[in-house]
Amino acid sequence: MRDEEKTFSQLVGELKALRLRISELENAAADCGVPDLKLKESEERFRQLFENISSGVAVYDAVDGGNDFVFRDFNKSAEKIDKLGKNDVIGKSIQEVFPGVKKFGLFDALQRVWKTGTPEHRPLSMYEDERVAGWRENYIFKLPGGEVVTVYDDITHEKQVEEKLKIISKAIEQNPVTVVITDRNANIEYVNPKFTDLTGYSSDEVLGKNPRILQSGKVPPGFYENLWQTILAGKEWHGEFLNKKKNGELYWEVASISPVTNEQGVITNFVAVKEDITEKKKLWEQLVEAKEKAEESDRLKSCFLANISHEIRTPMNGILGFSALLKEPLLSGEEKEQYIELIHESGKRMLSIINNLIDISRIETGELSLYPDTTNVNEVIESIHASFNEQARKKGLSFSCEMGLSVKDSVIVTDKARLNQVLSHLVGNALKYTSEGDVAFGYKKNGEMLEFYVRDTGIGIPREQQVKIFERFRQVSLDATRGYEGAGLGLSLGKKFVEMMNGTMWVDSTPGKGSVFYFSIPYTGFMKAKNRSKKNVEDNRYAFPSGFTILVVDDNSISRLLLKGVLSGQQVRVILAENGREAVEKVEQEPDIRVVLMDMKMPVMNGYEATSRIKEIRPDLPVIAQTAFADPEERETAKAAGCDVVLAKPINSEELLAEVQRRV
Ligand code: ADP
Repeated sequence: MRDEEKTFSQLVGELKALRLRISELENAAADCGVPDLKLKESEERFRQLFENISSGVAVYDAVDGGNDFVFRDFNKSAEKIDKLGKNDVIGKSIQEVFPGVKKFGLFDALQRVWKTGTPEHRPLSMYEDERVAGWRENYIFKLPGGEVVTVYDDITHEKQVEEKLKIISKAIEQNPVTVVITDRNANIEYVNPKFTDLTGYSSDEVLGKNPRILQSGKVPPGFYENLWQTILAGKEWHGEFLNKKKNGELYWEVASISPVTNEQGVITNFVAVKEDITEKKKLWEQLVEAKEKAEESDRLKSCFLANISHEIRTPMNGILGFSALLKEPLLSGEEKEQYIELIHESGKRMLSIINNLIDISRIETGELSLYPDTTNVNEVIESIHASFNEQARKKGLSFSCEMGLSVKDSVIVTDKARLNQVLSHLVGNALKYTSEGDVAFGYKKNGEMLEFYVRDTGIGIPREQQVKIFERFRQVSLDATRGYEGAGLGLSLGKKFVEMMNGTMWVDSTPGKGSVFYFSIPYTGFMKAKNRSKKNVEDNRYAFPSGFTILVVDDNSISRLLLKGVLSGQQVRVILAENGREAVEKVEQEPDIRVVLMDMKMPVMNGYEATSRIKEIRPDLPVIAQTAFADPEERETAKAAGCDVVLAKPINSEELLAEVQRRV
């Protein structure tokens, strides 16, 4: 056995034996006069051993009756460990060379061993002074000649490695990602606590097993082959798995698997570090969906703006063009009539676009309400048929309507204006998108509901568009070459109204053959309708007591005249004011005023201030505010100023009359 391979205690034993043998030989030589030569040989052997063993060895003489120890010998390994030359220490006190020796506990041990002769082992501990520091393990024993010997090793490096390992293993144990270590044959050797948390398998359940216990069976073919090829070739594999927990739940993880090789380059283990990304994946999908939606709405918005400007321009051109023509002095009466009719039609079309926009914005702010009243459904059907008949005739389409109940049974309680709006829009669309064949509409009673339908033999709607057309600004063909007018608002509005009426709307369509739009609303029946006030059953007109006076405040003379026209048609007395100040004066002078219709933006005194003052004079006098394209903030300010209700401009006369009627 070579010296380096002997254990420490073997070496110590040998050293002791050698020392003993030397002194025996010395004695024997002295007794029998053996020549010095053999002794020298033995001495040399001892020295070689002393100098070349890998442990540090220091030999001390006790001085001052064991109160101090001075260095007598110091081997090469000791020089290396303590970074001192032999000559720096020989003859010096241990305390002088190693000032920390007492604190370290070695000094006391030296004294004990010197006194008792019993060897001591000082387990691993840290020696430290101003010059050196390191982890030391000491063996102390006494030689027959009385010297004390310390044999020691510096295991600072091992200790540092151990500490590092401790930290790394803690990091793995506490890691929020899953760590799985397998042997070369993919048998699991280690899993960290996160693995147990995530998969529900305890480490005992998986040790020795193949990680395929986690497979969900939902990965593409060739997936695992590729993984194995990569890692067996000594490379790192990165990828995502869809795996299965012990309870069967599927989860996504992103993994990095790398081989571990020994010094000979042979793969001994595989280490997989994996992170659960199920939530992240979900969020990502939501994000992508939201982004696509945002892009889509952006596209729709641009399209909508283009459409709407076209939609507004067309009637605008009609109005401006024909009103210019009207100035021609040589026009015949018939021509004039025709131009006026065309201007009126264009104006109506423009108003309908604006009304749709206002309705949409009100629906969004939750401020649109229905005004249910007794409604004769048959009358609604008849009037729609009458108003579209001419259009259908011009297009050469057969146009018919069907009423599913008798006049008497067809009276229900619903918002007549909105019902009319929805059905008219559907009929208008049917005529618009049909170039030959027929358009038929009507209703029938189906259980507790009235089911309306509008059927055409027009272009039809592709299946994938049949849900989308009910979204705002949505048209089947969004490109500029589309051959039909429209802003893509009508159906979404119609569907919303029907839903507000507690009904549903849907479509059944075949491209190239035609479409049937349906909607149903609750059939409230005649009895309920009969309970409503008689005046409203007769026709849906408003009735105001004679002399009912309304103050209309608006700085725009056309608006003032229009409002006056609408209200005067209802036998109402109308007083006009041009601004807020005038309005306040009129309220002071005319105690008969029952309702104020107030514009908000006016010169001299605006509507907000005027309303506050009017409310001071007559707190009970209802003020109906009208603001242009009212946004929620404007509404709030108007309400704060004391307005009872806020209507958006241009005023829908039905809505206005209903509001005024409420205040009779
Ligand atoms: P628009 O005012 O543009 O007509 P709508 O909301 O009424 O808007 O309709 C949305 C889209 O649905 C239309 O642009 C059209 O592509 C399609 N559509 C509606 N009604 C019909 C129908 N009867 N036949 C074929 N397509 C229709």
